[in-house]
Parts: sequence; structure tokens; C-alpha cells
Amino acid sequence: MRMEQAPFRCIECNADAHELYRDYRNGILKITICESCRKPVDKYIEYDPVIILIDAILCKTQAFRHILFNTKINIHGKLCVFCLLCEAYLRWSQLPGSEKTVDPADIIRYTKEWDFYGMFSLAALELGVFLGGVLAFLWLLQRLRRADLKPQLLFEALLLSCYGKLLLIPAVIWEHDYSPLCFGLIRLFVLASNSQAIRVILNISRRLAVMAVFFGLLLETGMAKKIHNLL
Ligand SMILES: [Zn+2]
Repeated sequence: MRMEQAPFRCIECNADAHELYRDYRNGILKITICESCRKPVDKYIEYDPVIILIDAILCKTQAFRHILFNTKINIHGKLCVFCLLCEAYLRWSQLPGSEKTVDPADIIRYTKEWDFYGMFSLAALELGVFLGGVLAFLWLLQRLRRADLKPQLLFEALLLSCYGKLLLIPAVIWEHDYSPLCFGLIRLFVLASNSQAIRVILNISRRLAVMAVFFGLLLETGMAKKIHNLL
């Protein structure tokens, strides 16, 4: 007999859970207690979204489990496109001669617009190579461990954990001497979120998750260098 997959997870011990709370009617709700660790299955259902976001920024495993397993967030696609736009804008603003022109009929303006599309395509390609590298590494790893890869869940978690790229926009707008340092820190933060997402989805060690992210980054950097040499 095939066991039905539990729809939720305990955020403390990662055990399967069938419900997050029980409704006793008359306005009485009770948070479910996990059978394995005897702690609330998901304490975050009572928390303010801002606190959940802060805990996610701090890369807390519990917050990642809550978001990735116990909520139905379906903004991966839109978030991915928006993050790519942010990255394309950053690259485009760093192109030589991308200062704003006052003349609206300026022909250069149209070339610059195409430059933006080019930067968008490049950012999308690099993200694709990064994700492909990470997924290939994890596929091999899970095969060796004879475990399940959960590719769709993993893919969505990786896209969602790229949310830190949104910080590029304020970093570009409030440009100052420390901008390159900011961009580096944002990248580091996104990679840390990516590895935490992998760790939570596959329940693997931090070291293996970091290795997967590093492998993806290596492929992405290699491809970016190749394209840079070609152009
Ligand atoms: Zn538990």
C-alpha cells in the first residue's frame, strides 16, 4: 500500500506533518505538536510576515522550512524575471558611456536600449548555467546517496532564494564609493540563501550544499569569461 505524502513538515526536525493547526470551532485553534520532537510543527503560522522575512534573511533553517514546505508561495517565475531585470540594470549602468542623455531623439539611446536587452539575456544565460550546474551536481550526489532529487521543488526553492538580488536596485540608485563591495556582499548573501534552500529541500549537510553552489558558480564564472572573450 502506498503511503500518502504528508503535505507539511515540522520546521524543527523536518518530520512529516499532516496539519499545522487544528480548528476546534468557536474560534478555538490549536497549533499541532510534532510527534517526533514534541515542539510546535510550525510556530511561524502565528508570526508576522516581517519577522519571518527577518529570520529568512538570517538564513534560519526553520524559516526556510516554513516558506518552502508549509506555504504556497507561487511567485518564483515573476521573482526570477524581476531579479534578472535588476541584474541587467546593474550591468547596463556599469557599461562604459551609459550616462544619461538629454536629447530624446538621440540615436545612441536606442543602441543603449538594445544593450539592456543584451545584458538581460546574458544575465538569464548565466543564471541558467548556474542552476544547471547546481542541479547536475545535486543529481549526481543524490544518485550516489540513492535519494530522491525533487527537481521541481529544488528549482523553485533556488529561484525563490535569489530574492536578495532585489537589493541591487537600491545599491545602484544610492551609488557611492563602496558600491562594488555592496554588489559582492549581495552576491555572497544570495549564494548563502541558495545553499540554505538546497540544504532544507534535500536535508543534506551544509558542506554538500555549499559545494553544489560553488560548482554552479564555477560553471557560471567560466561561461561568463568565455562570452567576455568572444565579445
Ligand atoms: Zn518535529
